[in-house]
Amino acid sequence: MSEPHLLLFGPPGAGKGTQSANVADAYGIEHVTTGDALRANKDMETEHGTPREYMEAGELVPDPVVDAIVAEALATAEGYVLDGYPRNLDQAAELDAMTDLDAAAYLSVSESTLVERLTGRRVCTECGRNHHVEFDPPEEAGVCDDCGGELTQREDDTEDVVRERLRVYRENTEPVVERYRERGELIEIDGEQPPEAVWTDLDAAIENVL
Ligand code: AMP
Repeated sequence: MSEPHLLLFGPPGAGKGTQSANVADAYGIEHVTTGDALRANKDMETEHGTPREYMEAGELVPDPVVDAIVAEALATAEGYVLDGYPRNLDQAAELDAMTDLDAAAYLSVSESTLVERLTGRRVCTECGRNHHVEFDPPEEAGVCDDCGGELTQREDDTEDVVRERLRVYRENTEPVVERYRERGELIEIDGEQPPEAVWTDLDAAIENVL
């Protein structure tokens, strides 16, 4: 069988980044993440402006910009796990035209947990590791346990922007999740559990459909 084509859905803060990295490692496939790609190209000039202005406000970056990133990444990937795309119905139609999926999984997490996770998240500027001020605090405040790098808060992890990201998710992305669910193509995973337990469930569910 060819390398798997997987999709991971979930609201901001559900653990998509962490779990997609696990999937990519375990299955030897690429982790294609629009959020990371956009963060690495925040000041790229496009005819719609730069990604930064949308991201800092918690809004979606315009479809043509994001569609192009995904099309380029998928063109060279044998197998992949897609994280953060599609985020609206037009992107979902674009993805349908680009590729076939083997599985779509959804990490479900309550809104209060999401707000707690996101506003307390601190990211290492050197190695990218996430800490959490309460759930996974570093030994020394502001310093990454893994590499000693500086921990910062993502500009879009402040409470106001988090609320807007969740609103945008409900309005734009939930209908996409619903579409996969109605087609019977969605694997639902309890994303409230600790990361290790989420991974156990996710891995078993993917194994089951491949
Ligand atoms: P994430 O790291 O997935 O939470 O994405 C961070 C931000 O990048 C989002 O709030 C959006 O501004 C932008 N972004 C990421 N993926 C997409 C997408 N598929 N469509 C539009 N904007 C996106």
